[in-house]
Amino acid sequence: MHVLSFIPETGRKALKFGAVPLLNLPATSHDQSRAPERRHLNIVQTNVEATRLEGMPVYKTFSEFKTRAEKLKICNKGWITKSIDCKMYFTFLHKPFALPQFEVIVDESLGFVCGIYGLPLPDDHEFYKIHKRSLRNITISELLDELLNQKLCPGVSVKSEEAICHFIPCELEFNETSDHVVEPKHYYRSKECTLLTSTGETCACCESFIKKHSKAQTFKQHKINTPAHLNAPLSQTHPNCVKLALQQERLRTAELQKKINKMENEIKVAGVEIDDELCSGLFAIMADNEQKVSPFMKLFWEQQTKLFKMGHKRYHPMIIRFCLSLASKSPSAYNELRNSNILTLPGCRTLRNYKNAIKPKAGFNPAVIAELCETASRLKGAQRYVVLSIDEVKIQENLVYDKHAGHLIGFVDLGDAEIDYACFNEVKQLASHALVYYIRGLASDLKFSLAYFGTKGVTSYQIMTTFWEAIAILELTCQLPVIATVSDGASSNRKFYRMHQLLAGKENDVTHRTVNLFAPERYIWFFADAPHLMKTARNCISHSGMVVAKIST
Ligand SMILES: [Zn+2]
Repeated sequence: MHVLSFIPETGRKALKFGAVPLLNLPATSHDQSRAPERRHLNIVQTNVEATRLEGMPVYKTFSEFKTRAEKLKICNKGWITKSIDCKMYFTFLHKPFALPQFEVIVDESLGFVCGIYGLPLPDDHEFYKIHKRSLRNITISELLDELLNQKLCPGVSVKSEEAICHFIPCELEFNETSDHVVEPKHYYRSKECTLLTSTGETCACCESFIKKHSKAQTFKQHKINTPAHLNAPLSQTHPNCVKLALQQERLRTAELQKKINKMENEIKVAGVEIDDELCSGLFAIMADNEQKVSPFMKLFWEQQTKLFKMGHKRYHPMIIRFCLSLASKSPSAYNELRNSNILTLPGCRTLRNYKNAIKPKAGFNPAVIAELCETASRLKGAQRYVVLSIDEVKIQENLVYDKHAGHLIGFVDLGDAEIDYACFNEVKQLASHALVYYIRGLASDLKFSLAYFGTKGVTSYQIMTTFWEAIAILELTCQLPVIATVSDGASSNRKFYRMHQLLAGKENDVTHRTVNLFAPERYIWFFADAPHLMKTARNCISHSGMVVAKIST
Protein backbone atom coordinates (compact mmCIF):
# COMPACT_ATOMS: atom_id res chain seq x y z
CA MET A 1 0.00 0.00 0.00
CA HIS A 2 1.31 3.39 -0.83
CA VAL A 3 0.92 5.97 1.83
CA LEU A 4 1.16 9.65 1.32
CA SER A 5 3.48 11.50 3.66
CA PHE A 6 4.87 14.97 4.17
CA ILE A 7 8.26 15.60 2.88
CA PRO A 8 10.00 18.02 5.28
CA GLU A 9 12.95 18.75 3.09
CA THR A 10 10.96 20.50 0.51
CA GLY A 11 8.67 22.33 2.95
CA ARG A 12 5.81 21.26 0.86
CA LYS A 13 3.30 18.66 1.73
CA ALA A 14 3.49 15.89 -0.78
CA LEU A 15 2.98 12.22 -0.78
CA LYS A 16 5.99 9.99 -0.67
CA PHE A 17 6.02 6.48 -1.81
CA GLY A 18 6.37 3.81 0.89
CA ALA A 19 6.60 6.31 3.82
CA VAL A 20 4.66 5.94 7.11
CA PRO A 21 2.47 8.91 7.95
CA LEU A 22 3.61 10.65 11.20
CA LEU A 23 1.79 13.92 11.36
CA ASN A 24 -1.41 14.13 13.43
CA LEU A 25 -1.13 10.51 14.45
CA PRO A 26 -2.22 9.58 18.07
CA ALA A 27 0.74 9.22 20.55
CA THR A 28 2.05 5.77 21.51
CA SER A 29 0.67 4.23 24.71
CA HIS A 30 4.14 3.88 26.35
CA ASP A 31 6.29 7.03 26.78
CA GLN A 32 9.88 6.90 25.91
CA SER A 33 12.36 7.89 28.71
CA ARG A 34 13.57 11.40 28.39
CA ALA A 35 17.18 12.28 28.00
CA PRO A 36 18.82 13.85 31.14
CA GLU A 37 18.83 17.60 31.32
CA ARG A 38 21.98 19.22 30.22
CA ARG A 39 24.20 20.74 32.89
CA HIS A 40 24.23 24.50 33.28
CA LEU A 41 27.31 26.07 32.02
CA ASN A 42 29.26 28.33 34.45
CA ILE A 43 32.31 30.45 34.07
CA VAL A 44 35.03 28.43 35.81
CA GLN A 45 37.08 30.47 38.30
CA THR A 46 40.56 29.12 38.72
CA ASN A 47 41.11 30.33 42.35
CA VAL A 48 37.78 29.25 43.76
CA GLU A 49 37.39 25.59 44.37
CA ALA A 50 34.53 23.77 42.73
CA THR A 51 31.27 24.23 44.65
CA ARG A 52 30.51 21.32 46.83
CA LEU A 53 27.51 19.24 46.05
CA GLU A 54 25.29 18.14 48.90
CA GLY A 55 26.25 14.66 50.08
CA MET A 56 29.24 14.46 47.77
CA PRO A 57 32.80 14.22 49.19
CA VAL A 58 34.87 17.37 48.84
CA TYR A 59 37.94 15.43 47.70
CA LYS A 60 37.56 12.01 46.23
CA THR A 61 41.17 10.85 46.46
CA PHE A 62 44.37 11.96 48.10
CA SER A 63 45.95 12.73 44.75
CA GLU A 64 43.03 15.00 43.86
CA PHE A 65 43.41 16.70 47.23
CA LYS A 66 47.15 17.09 46.68
CA THR A 67 46.76 18.62 43.25
CA ARG A 68 44.10 21.05 44.40
CA ALA A 69 45.90 21.96 47.63
CA GLU A 70 49.13 22.74 45.86
CA LYS A 71 47.29 25.18 43.61
CA LEU A 72 45.85 27.11 46.62
CA LYS A 73 47.38 30.47 47.40
CA ILE A 74 47.33 30.06 51.19
CA CYS A 75 50.94 31.15 51.62
CA ASN A 76 49.58 34.71 51.58
CA LYS A 77 47.96 34.02 54.91
CA GLY A 78 51.20 32.65 56.38
CA TRP A 79 50.70 28.93 55.79
CA ILE A 80 53.59 26.82 54.50
CA THR A 81 52.74 23.70 52.52
CA LYS A 82 54.96 20.64 52.34
CA SER A 83 54.45 17.19 50.87
CA ILE A 84 56.49 14.27 52.19
CA ASP A 85 55.80 10.54 51.75
CA CYS A 86 52.14 10.60 50.87
CA LYS A 87 51.39 13.16 53.60
CA MET A 88 50.78 16.85 53.34
CA TYR A 89 51.97 19.28 56.01
CA PHE A 90 50.46 22.72 56.57
CA THR A 91 52.35 24.82 59.13
CA PHE A 92 51.65 28.29 60.53
CA LEU A 93 54.66 29.85 62.19
CA HIS A 94 54.53 32.34 65.06
CA LYS A 95 57.74 34.31 65.18
CA PRO A 96 59.93 34.30 67.25
CA PHE A 97 58.89 30.89 68.64
CA ALA A 98 60.60 27.77 67.35
CA LEU A 99 57.42 25.66 67.40
CA PRO A 100 54.72 26.27 64.79
CA GLN A 101 51.56 27.81 66.22
CA PHE A 102 49.35 25.54 64.12
CA GLU A 103 50.23 22.41 62.24
CA VAL A 104 47.87 20.25 60.12
CA ILE A 105 48.99 16.90 58.72
CA VAL A 106 46.76 15.21 56.13
CA ASP A 107 47.37 11.53 55.41
CA GLU A 108 46.42 9.31 52.46
CA SER A 109 42.97 8.52 53.81
CA LEU A 110 42.23 12.30 53.92
CA GLY A 111 42.13 12.17 57.73
CA PHE A 112 43.94 15.03 59.48
CA VAL A 113 45.78 15.77 62.74
CA CYS A 114 46.24 19.19 64.33
CA GLY A 115 49.08 20.34 66.52
CA ILE A 116 49.33 23.52 68.60
CA TYR A 117 52.82 24.63 69.66
CA GLY A 118 54.05 21.04 69.46
CA LEU A 119 51.14 19.51 71.39
CA PRO A 120 48.59 17.33 69.58
CA LEU A 121 44.96 18.45 69.84
CA PRO A 122 43.04 16.00 72.13
CA ASP A 123 41.19 13.32 70.16
CA ASP A 124 37.82 14.29 71.66
CA HIS A 125 38.13 17.99 70.79
CA GLU A 126 35.06 19.72 69.36
CA PHE A 127 37.12 20.77 66.31
CA TYR A 128 37.58 17.13 65.26
CA LYS A 129 33.98 16.19 66.03
CA ILE A 130 32.43 18.89 63.81
CA HIS A 131 34.22 17.74 60.63
CA LYS A 132 34.44 14.06 61.54
CA ARG A 133 38.20 14.51 61.33
CA SER A 134 38.19 14.07 57.53
CA LEU A 135 38.75 16.36 54.55
CA ARG A 136 35.89 14.71 52.73
CA ASN A 137 33.58 17.09 54.62
CA ILE A 138 35.47 20.41 54.44
CA THR A 139 37.92 22.07 52.13
CA ILE A 140 41.45 22.56 53.38
CA SER A 141 41.27 26.36 53.09
CA GLU A 142 38.10 26.48 55.20
CA LEU A 143 39.69 24.18 57.76
CA LEU A 144 42.81 26.34 58.03
CA ASP A 145 40.75 29.53 58.35
CA GLU A 146 38.70 27.97 61.11
CA LEU A 147 41.87 26.93 62.90
CA LEU A 148 43.20 30.49 62.80
CA ASN A 149 40.05 31.70 64.55
CA GLN A 150 40.69 29.42 67.53
CA LYS A 151 42.52 30.76 70.60
CA LEU A 152 45.00 29.13 72.95
CA CYS A 153 43.84 28.20 76.46
CA PRO A 154 45.98 30.24 78.93
CA GLY A 155 46.14 27.17 81.26
CA VAL A 156 46.44 27.27 85.01
CA SER A 157 48.58 29.92 86.65
CA VAL A 158 49.66 27.62 89.47
CA LYS A 159 52.71 25.42 89.32
CA SER A 160 51.65 22.01 90.51
CA GLU A 161 52.81 18.41 90.32
CA GLU A 162 49.54 17.36 88.75
CA ALA A 163 49.75 19.97 85.97
CA ILE A 164 51.76 19.41 82.79
CA CYS A 165 54.31 22.01 81.68
CA HIS A 166 53.86 23.36 78.16
CA PHE A 167 57.17 24.92 77.13
CA ILE A 168 57.43 26.97 73.89
CA PRO A 169 61.07 27.77 73.08
CA CYS A 170 62.29 30.70 70.97
CA GLU A 171 64.33 30.45 67.83
CA LEU A 172 68.02 30.76 68.59
CA GLU A 173 68.90 33.14 65.75
CA PHE A 174 66.09 35.53 66.67
CA ASN A 175 67.66 36.42 70.00
CA GLU A 176 71.07 36.84 68.36
CA THR A 177 69.93 39.36 65.79
CA SER A 178 67.24 41.22 67.72
CA ASP A 179 67.99 43.81 70.39
CA HIS A 180 65.30 42.88 72.86
CA VAL A 181 65.43 39.38 74.26
CA VAL A 182 62.18 37.42 74.06
CA GLU A 183 61.57 34.97 76.85
CA PRO A 184 60.34 31.51 75.92
CA LYS A 185 56.78 30.81 77.07
CA HIS A 186 55.73 28.50 79.90
CA TYR A 187 52.22 27.28 80.35
CA TYR A 188 50.91 24.92 83.03
CA ARG A 189 47.87 22.95 81.99
CA SER A 190 45.65 20.24 83.39
CA LYS A 191 46.29 16.90 81.75
CA GLU A 192 42.91 17.03 79.99
CA CYS A 193 43.35 20.62 78.68
CA THR A 194 41.58 21.12 75.31
CA LEU A 195 44.34 23.59 74.20
CA LEU A 196 42.06 25.49 71.81
CA THR A 197 38.96 27.46 72.77
CA SER A 198 36.78 29.69 70.66
CA THR A 199 36.78 32.55 73.19
CA GLY A 200 40.37 32.51 74.40
CA GLU A 201 39.30 31.95 78.02
CA THR A 202 40.51 29.13 80.26
CA CYS A 203 39.05 25.81 79.13
CA ALA A 204 36.60 23.92 81.39
CA CYS A 205 39.19 21.28 82.37
CA CYS A 206 41.75 23.88 83.49
CA GLU A 207 38.99 25.80 85.29
CA SER A 208 37.99 22.79 87.39
CA PHE A 209 41.67 22.05 88.00
CA ILE A 210 42.17 25.56 89.44
CA LYS A 211 39.17 25.15 91.73
CA LYS A 212 40.32 21.77 92.96
CA HIS A 213 43.84 23.05 93.52
CA SER A 214 42.76 26.10 95.49
CA LYS A 215 40.55 23.90 97.69
CA ALA A 216 43.46 21.55 98.33
CA GLN A 217 45.69 24.53 99.11
CA THR A 218 43.23 25.90 101.67
CA PHE A 219 43.00 22.50 103.31
CA LYS A 220 46.77 22.17 103.36
CA GLN A 221 47.16 25.65 104.84
CA HIS A 222 44.63 24.81 107.53
CA LYS A 223 46.47 21.60 108.34
CA ILE A 224 49.77 23.43 108.60
CA ASN A 225 48.28 25.95 111.03
CA THR A 226 46.94 23.25 113.37
CA PRO A 227 49.18 22.11 116.22
CA ALA A 228 50.40 18.54 115.74
CA HIS A 229 48.97 15.74 117.87
CA LEU A 230 51.21 14.73 120.77
CA ASN A 231 51.89 11.27 119.32
CA ALA A 232 52.22 12.35 115.67
CA PRO A 233 55.36 10.94 113.95
CA LEU A 234 57.84 13.81 113.64
CA SER A 235 59.25 12.67 110.28
CA GLN A 236 55.85 13.07 108.60
CA THR A 237 54.66 16.21 110.37
CA HIS A 238 55.01 19.71 108.96
CA PRO A 239 57.54 21.79 110.94
CA ASN A 240 54.92 24.47 111.54
CA CYS A 241 52.59 21.94 113.21
CA VAL A 242 55.43 20.82 115.47
CA LYS A 243 56.21 24.41 116.34
CA LEU A 244 52.58 25.17 117.24
CA ALA A 245 52.32 22.01 119.34
CA LEU A 246 55.49 22.97 121.20
CA GLN A 247 54.15 26.45 121.94
CA GLN A 248 50.92 24.98 123.28
CA GLU A 249 52.76 22.53 125.50
CA ARG A 250 55.02 25.27 126.87
CA LEU A 251 52.00 27.35 127.84
CA ARG A 252 50.38 24.41 129.57
CA THR A 253 53.56 23.57 131.45
CA ALA A 254 53.93 27.17 132.57
CA GLU A 255 50.37 27.24 133.89
CA LEU A 256 50.81 23.98 135.76
CA GLN A 257 54.10 25.16 137.22
CA LYS A 258 52.36 28.31 138.42
CA LYS A 259 49.69 26.23 140.15
CA ILE A 260 52.28 24.03 141.84
CA ASN A 261 54.17 27.08 143.07
CA LYS A 262 50.98 28.59 144.45
CA MET A 263 50.09 25.38 146.26
CA GLU A 264 53.58 25.04 147.69
CA ASN A 265 53.44 28.62 148.92
CA GLU A 266 50.06 28.02 150.48
CA ILE A 267 51.36 24.96 152.30
CA LYS A 268 54.41 26.89 153.48
CA VAL A 269 52.38 29.82 154.84
CA ALA A 270 49.21 28.20 156.16
CA GLY A 271 50.28 24.58 156.59
CA VAL A 272 50.37 23.02 160.04
CA GLU A 273 52.65 20.13 160.67
CA ILE A 274 50.96 17.21 162.39
CA ASP A 275 52.54 14.19 163.90
CA ASP A 276 51.93 10.68 162.64
CA GLU A 277 49.51 9.84 165.43
CA LEU A 278 47.17 12.71 164.65
CA CYS A 279 47.45 12.00 160.97
CA SER A 280 46.40 8.40 161.36
CA GLY A 281 43.67 9.51 163.77
CA LEU A 282 42.22 11.89 161.19
CA PHE A 283 42.27 9.19 158.58
CA ALA A 284 40.48 6.84 160.97
CA ILE A 285 37.76 9.43 161.68
CA MET A 286 37.21 10.05 158.00
CA ALA A 287 37.09 6.32 157.27
CA ASP A 288 34.64 5.71 160.18
CA ASN A 289 32.27 8.42 159.14
CA GLU A 290 32.26 7.18 155.62
CA GLN A 291 30.61 3.99 156.85
CA LYS A 292 28.28 5.52 159.42
CA VAL A 293 26.76 8.07 157.10
CA SER A 294 23.50 6.80 155.63
CA PRO A 295 23.14 6.96 151.85
CA PHE A 296 20.47 9.64 152.11
CA MET A 297 22.62 11.74 154.45
CA LYS A 298 25.49 11.49 152.01
CA LEU A 299 23.26 12.43 149.12
CA PHE A 300 21.74 15.28 151.10
CA TRP A 301 25.11 16.84 151.92
CA GLU A 302 26.40 16.31 148.41
CA GLN A 303 23.31 18.03 147.02
CA GLN A 304 23.59 20.87 149.52
CA THR A 305 27.21 21.59 148.52
CA LYS A 306 26.24 21.40 144.88
CA LEU A 307 23.25 23.73 145.33
CA PHE A 308 25.37 26.16 147.29
CA LYS A 309 27.86 26.41 144.43
CA MET A 310 25.38 26.50 141.57
CA GLY A 311 23.66 29.68 140.45
CA HIS A 312 20.49 28.01 139.25
CA LYS A 313 18.72 25.51 141.46
CA ARG A 314 17.91 22.01 140.34
CA TYR A 315 16.77 19.71 143.07
CA HIS A 316 17.33 15.99 143.32
CA PRO A 317 14.02 14.01 143.39
CA MET A 318 14.94 12.61 146.83
CA ILE A 319 15.34 16.13 148.20
CA ILE A 320 11.95 17.13 146.77
CA ARG A 321 10.30 14.11 148.43
CA PHE A 322 11.92 14.87 151.75
CA CYS A 323 10.86 18.54 151.59
CA LEU A 324 7.31 17.65 150.54
CA SER A 325 6.91 15.38 153.52
CA LEU A 326 8.45 18.02 155.79
CA ALA A 327 6.23 20.83 154.47
CA SER A 328 3.06 18.76 154.70
CA LYS A 329 3.75 18.05 158.39
CA SER A 330 4.18 21.71 159.20
CA PRO A 331 4.36 24.42 156.55
CA SER A 332 5.44 27.07 159.04
CA ALA A 333 8.28 24.94 160.40
CA TYR A 334 9.42 24.27 156.86
CA ASN A 335 9.38 27.98 156.03
CA GLU A 336 11.29 28.75 159.21
CA LEU A 337 13.96 26.24 158.25
CA ARG A 338 14.10 27.57 154.74
CA ASN A 339 14.29 31.24 155.68
CA SER A 340 17.00 30.62 158.26
CA ASN A 341 19.39 29.98 155.31
CA ILE A 342 20.94 27.02 157.07
CA LEU A 343 19.92 24.76 154.21
CA THR A 344 19.16 25.41 150.58
CA LEU A 345 15.62 24.11 150.14
CA PRO A 346 13.04 24.47 147.38
CA GLY A 347 10.44 27.20 147.80
CA CYS A 348 6.72 26.65 148.46
CA ARG A 349 5.86 27.42 144.86
CA THR A 350 8.26 24.73 143.59
CA LEU A 351 6.85 22.23 146.06
CA ARG A 352 3.30 23.08 145.01
CA ASN A 353 4.15 22.11 141.43
CA TYR A 354 5.17 18.68 142.64
CA LYS A 355 2.39 18.35 145.22
CA ASN A 356 -0.42 18.89 142.75
CA ALA A 357 0.59 16.06 140.47
CA ILE A 358 -3.07 15.06 140.76
CA LYS A 359 -5.18 18.17 140.24
CA PRO A 360 -7.36 18.63 143.32
CA LYS A 361 -11.08 18.70 142.60
CA ALA A 362 -14.23 18.47 144.69
CA GLY A 363 -16.00 15.11 144.50
CA PHE A 364 -14.61 11.73 143.56
CA ASN A 365 -11.52 12.26 141.48
CA PRO A 366 -10.67 9.38 139.07
CA ALA A 367 -6.94 10.05 139.48
CA VAL A 368 -7.27 9.79 143.27
CA ILE A 369 -9.26 6.56 143.00
CA ALA A 370 -6.63 5.10 140.68
CA GLU A 371 -3.97 6.03 143.24
CA LEU A 372 -5.99 4.28 146.00
CA CYS A 373 -6.34 1.13 143.87
CA GLU A 374 -2.57 1.17 143.32
CA THR A 375 -1.94 1.49 147.08
CA ALA A 376 -4.57 -1.15 147.95
CA SER A 377 -3.14 -3.68 145.49
CA ARG A 378 -0.32 -4.35 147.99
CA LEU A 379 -2.77 -5.37 150.75
CA LYS A 380 -3.87 -8.99 151.30
CA GLY A 381 -6.84 -10.66 153.09
CA ALA A 382 -7.90 -8.97 156.35
CA GLN A 383 -5.61 -6.03 155.59
CA ARG A 384 -8.14 -4.88 153.02
CA TYR A 385 -10.93 -4.10 155.59
CA VAL A 386 -11.35 -0.36 156.00
CA VAL A 387 -13.31 2.16 158.06
CA LEU A 388 -14.76 5.24 156.39
CA SER A 389 -14.70 8.35 158.51
CA ILE A 390 -16.76 11.42 157.70
CA ASP A 391 -16.04 14.84 159.10
CA GLU A 392 -16.86 18.39 158.31
CA VAL A 393 -14.05 20.92 158.76
CA LYS A 394 -14.35 24.65 158.81
CA ILE A 395 -12.67 26.47 155.95
CA GLN A 396 -12.16 30.11 155.06
CA GLU A 397 -14.96 31.42 152.85
CA ASN A 398 -13.18 32.64 149.73
CA LEU A 399 -13.20 32.40 145.97
CA VAL A 400 -10.07 31.33 144.07
CA TYR A 401 -9.61 31.49 140.34
CA ASP A 402 -8.10 28.35 138.78
CA LYS A 403 -6.10 29.72 135.86
CA HIS A 404 -5.54 26.25 134.31
CA ALA A 405 -9.18 25.16 134.24
CA GLY A 406 -10.66 28.67 134.11
CA HIS A 407 -12.98 27.91 137.04
CA LEU A 408 -13.87 29.77 140.20
CA ILE A 409 -13.28 27.56 143.22
CA GLY A 410 -14.94 28.16 146.55
CA PHE A 411 -18.65 27.62 145.88
CA VAL A 412 -20.59 24.75 147.44
CA ASP A 413 -19.80 21.65 145.41
CA LEU A 414 -20.73 17.98 145.75
CA GLY A 415 -18.73 17.04 142.69
CA ASP A 416 -21.77 16.59 140.43
CA ALA A 417 -23.91 19.42 139.05
CA GLU A 418 -27.15 17.37 139.27
CA ILE A 419 -26.63 16.47 142.91
CA ASP A 420 -25.71 20.09 143.59
CA TYR A 421 -29.05 21.33 142.21
CA ALA A 422 -30.94 18.60 144.11
CA CYS A 423 -29.24 19.19 147.46
CA PHE A 424 -28.67 22.95 147.66
CA ASN A 425 -31.29 25.67 147.71
CA GLU A 426 -28.79 28.13 146.31
CA VAL A 427 -26.00 26.74 144.14
CA LYS A 428 -23.97 29.97 143.92
CA GLN A 429 -23.16 30.33 147.61
CA LEU A 430 -19.72 30.21 149.14
CA ALA A 431 -18.69 27.03 150.90
CA SER A 432 -17.93 27.47 154.60
CA HIS A 433 -17.02 23.85 155.33
CA ALA A 434 -15.34 20.96 153.61
CA LEU A 435 -16.87 17.52 154.03
CA VAL A 436 -14.00 15.05 154.00
CA TYR A 437 -14.20 11.29 153.41
CA TYR A 438 -11.18 9.61 154.90
CA ILE A 439 -10.44 5.89 154.98
CA ARG A 440 -8.33 4.03 157.51
CA GLY A 441 -7.24 0.37 157.28
CA LEU A 442 -8.40 -1.84 160.19
CA ALA A 443 -5.47 -4.22 160.01
CA SER A 444 -3.08 -2.13 157.96
CA ASP A 445 -1.53 1.33 158.09
CA LEU A 446 -3.61 2.50 155.11
CA LYS A 447 -4.59 6.16 155.49
CA PHE A 448 -6.15 7.81 152.51
CA SER A 449 -8.23 10.91 151.88
CA LEU A 450 -10.83 9.69 149.41
CA ALA A 451 -12.72 12.87 148.57
CA TYR A 452 -13.84 16.27 149.78
CA PHE A 453 -16.90 18.41 149.06
CA GLY A 454 -17.61 22.09 149.47
CA THR A 455 -20.59 22.53 151.83
CA LYS A 456 -22.34 25.13 153.95
CA GLY A 457 -23.90 23.43 156.97
CA VAL A 458 -24.05 19.87 155.67
CA THR A 459 -27.42 18.10 155.75
CA SER A 460 -28.28 14.41 156.13
CA TYR A 461 -29.45 13.98 152.55
CA GLN A 462 -26.22 15.55 151.23
CA ILE A 463 -24.27 12.97 153.24
CA MET A 464 -26.64 10.22 152.09
CA THR A 465 -25.87 10.62 148.36
CA THR A 466 -22.13 11.06 148.70
CA PHE A 467 -21.76 8.33 151.37
CA TRP A 468 -23.25 5.56 149.23
CA GLU A 469 -21.23 6.69 146.22
CA ALA A 470 -18.10 6.40 148.35
CA ILE A 471 -19.15 2.89 149.47
CA ALA A 472 -19.78 1.88 145.86
CA ILE A 473 -16.32 3.05 144.81
CA LEU A 474 -14.58 1.36 147.72
CA GLU A 475 -16.47 -1.94 147.43
CA LEU A 476 -16.68 -2.28 143.67
CA THR A 477 -13.79 -0.33 142.16
CA CYS A 478 -11.12 -0.66 144.84
CA GLN A 479 -12.27 -4.04 146.26
CA LEU A 480 -11.90 -2.69 149.80
CA PRO A 481 -14.67 -4.03 152.12
CA VAL A 482 -16.07 -1.23 154.34
CA ILE A 483 -16.89 -2.51 157.82
CA ALA A 484 -17.80 0.64 159.71
CA THR A 485 -18.16 4.37 159.47
CA VAL A 486 -17.09 6.91 162.07
CA SER A 487 -18.39 10.43 162.51
CA ASP A 488 -18.99 12.95 165.25
CA GLY A 489 -22.37 13.34 166.86
CA ALA A 490 -23.55 16.32 164.80
CA SER A 491 -27.29 16.42 164.24
CA SER A 492 -26.95 15.92 160.47
CA ASN A 493 -24.88 12.77 161.06
CA ARG A 494 -27.40 11.34 163.55
CA LYS A 495 -30.24 12.09 161.17
CA PHE A 496 -28.24 10.35 158.44
CA TYR A 497 -27.97 7.25 160.66
CA ARG A 498 -31.68 7.28 161.34
CA MET A 499 -32.42 7.32 157.62
CA HIS A 500 -31.22 3.69 157.56
CA GLN A 501 -33.84 2.56 160.08
CA LEU A 502 -35.68 0.31 157.63
CA LEU A 503 -32.45 -1.32 156.44
CA ALA A 504 -31.28 -2.03 159.99
CA GLY A 505 -34.29 -4.16 161.01
CA LYS A 506 -37.38 -3.33 163.11
CA GLU A 507 -36.31 -4.94 166.38
CA ASN A 508 -33.77 -2.15 167.01
CA ASP A 509 -35.05 1.20 168.22
CA VAL A 510 -31.57 2.72 167.83
CA THR A 511 -30.14 2.60 164.32
CA HIS A 512 -26.54 1.47 164.75
CA ARG A 513 -25.96 -0.41 161.49
CA THR A 514 -27.19 -0.84 157.97
CA VAL A 515 -27.08 -3.57 155.39
CA ASN A 516 -24.23 -2.91 152.96
CA LEU A 517 -26.13 -2.30 149.72
CA PHE A 518 -23.10 -3.34 147.67
CA ALA A 519 -22.36 -6.48 149.73
CA PRO A 520 -25.72 -7.51 151.29
CA GLU A 521 -24.14 -10.29 153.39
CA ARG A 522 -22.35 -7.68 155.48
CA TYR A 523 -23.41 -4.75 157.66
CA ILE A 524 -21.88 -1.34 157.93
CA TRP A 525 -21.68 -0.32 161.58
CA PHE A 526 -22.14 3.30 162.64
CA PHE A 527 -19.75 4.63 165.28
CA ALA A 528 -19.75 7.94 166.99
CA ASP A 529 -16.28 9.37 167.43
CA ALA A 530 -15.47 8.70 171.12
CA PRO A 531 -13.04 11.60 171.74
CA HIS A 532 -15.59 13.86 170.12
CA LEU A 533 -18.34 12.60 172.45
CA MET A 534 -16.10 13.34 175.46
CA LYS A 535 -15.48 16.80 174.11
CA THR A 536 -19.20 17.37 173.65
CA ALA A 537 -19.89 16.12 177.19
CA ARG A 538 -17.25 18.42 178.60
CA ASN A 539 -18.69 21.38 176.68
CA CYS A 540 -22.21 20.58 177.92
CA ILE A 541 -21.03 20.44 181.50
CA SER A 542 -19.02 23.59 181.04
CA HIS A 543 -21.93 25.50 179.54
CA SER A 544 -24.41 24.48 182.21
CA GLY A 545 -22.56 26.82 184.69
CA MET A 546 -24.12 25.28 187.74
CA VAL A 547 -21.84 22.25 187.92
CA VAL A 548 -18.77 24.38 187.35
CA ALA A 549 -19.75 26.50 190.30
CA LYS A 550 -20.22 23.42 192.47
CA ILE A 551 -16.80 22.10 191.58
CA SER A 552 -15.14 25.41 192.24
CA THR A 553 -16.71 25.71 195.68
ZN1 LIG B 1 43.12 24.41 79.33
